[in-house]
Amino acid sequence: MGEFQIQQSFFDQYLGKLRHVAEIIDLAPEVVEILSKPKRTIIVSIPVRMDNGKTRVFTAYRVQFNDARGPMKGGFRYHPDVNLDEVKALAALMMLKTAVVNIPYGGSKGGVKCNPKEMSRRELEVLTREYAKALAPFIGPDIDIPAPDVNTDAQVMAWFLDEYNKVVGKVVPGVVTGKPLSIGGSGGRGEATGRGVFFIGLEAASKLNVSLKDARVSIQGFGNVAFNAAKFFYELGSKIVAVSNSKGGIYNPDGLNIYKVMEVKRKEGSVTKYSEAEIISREDPLTVDCDILIPAALEGQITEKNAGNVKAKMIIEGANGPTTPEADKILSEKGVFIVPDILANAGGVVVSYFEWVQNRMGYYWSEKEVDDKLKTIMVNAFNDVYEVSNKYNVDMRTGAYITSINRIVGAMKSLGWI
Ligand code: NAD
Repeated sequence: MGEFQIQQSFFDQYLGKLRHVAEIIDLAPEVVEILSKPKRTIIVSIPVRMDNGKTRVFTAYRVQFNDARGPMKGGFRYHPDVNLDEVKALAALMMLKTAVVNIPYGGSKGGVKCNPKEMSRRELEVLTREYAKALAPFIGPDIDIPAPDVNTDAQVMAWFLDEYNKVVGKVVPGVVTGKPLSIGGSGGRGEATGRGVFFIGLEAASKLNVSLKDARVSIQGFGNVAFNAAKFFYELGSKIVAVSNSKGGIYNPDGLNIYKVMEVKRKEGSVTKYSEAEIISREDPLTVDCDILIPAALEGQITEKNAGNVKAKMIIEGANGPTTPEADKILSEKGVFIVPDILANAGGVVVSYFEWVQNRMGYYWSEKEVDDKLKTIMVNAFNDVYEVSNKYNVDMRTGAYITSINRIVGAMKSLGWI
């Protein structure tokens, strides 16, 4: 094999894990087949008149994986690397994520292959509105509900909603989540994923008898998930020893003041401009000396090449798919406790669910109510997965897959699909 070994695609990694779990819980072949194929795949070409007067055609995807447990739910991203394999894998992970936290949704995901960093605000608005128009016949609050992901934010959701409303001729705030507060967004949505990562950290630490207050935490990334997670650990008293962004990383064994780091990043564009730390590479936070590692940047970061050098005893996956299956095996053998993405970063979709519930009621909760409800769901989900992992004597990732697949299978049986 050696250098000719073919890298498993992101979706193949999902299929591999599905087959592994199917053996453990003895899933029928037709169940595995349903869970291996998206219910519906939408691919559209979107022409956009660019600011220079020329038209460019963008390829856009929406993969609706499974709706046995409820309407499908998943964000959409704008990125040059977006492709069908990635969107399919992320849609499957969304199906598992909503089931593992037991909210009444299926799973979906979307993406447009584009480079938003090279596009003007007007071009992004036109692209978003055309994407909304193209998806309008296939989405809705009872069908499929998009949300923000990488490089899409509350403003993008607002444009998307406005265009959808025009197509259907009424105001339907529940068709997207992650909206601005002024048009039906939920308090607490912005920091929900980071807050959820922190709640999971608290639960895991209590199970492993670790004091989070004394813990050294290293984080890859410094965006929405990474910064908000860092903030809650920092406030508790943990030492944040390393963070990074796409331009590089910083390390200080005595701990970073993450608010000052954020100020520097805002002003100068990168955490590496922060002076009270040693400059390291963007991958180094994965392998510095620490107790807890939070990968919160991109997929496929912890691989068979660097997994052996990971020093953390606990990994909480803020990003989707940060650990390859080969790395997972190496880390398991080293006895590292890994809280998988579908559990650890579910805080965002949970508060998106609360946003949708509030939109449908037309009645809005305080931020405190949202945070308290989020905590209850995250703690219960952690304990469900922890129990299943112990029952089957498997790691937390396998336990999370078993927990969610059992719930999806239960729904498919009730519906008469199997
Ligand atoms: P973001 O765009 O806000 O932040 C991404 C961060 O990663 C940035 O700081 C960027 O500089 C950094 N980065 C990019 N490439 C890097 C590299 N090679 N090395 C180190 N750092 C790098 O995105 P986000 O919303 O924080 O999402 C991060 C991850 O979390 C993604 O995998 C996303 O799918 C996942 N996620 C996000 C949410 C959410 O609510 N935002 C919810 C669940 C999962």
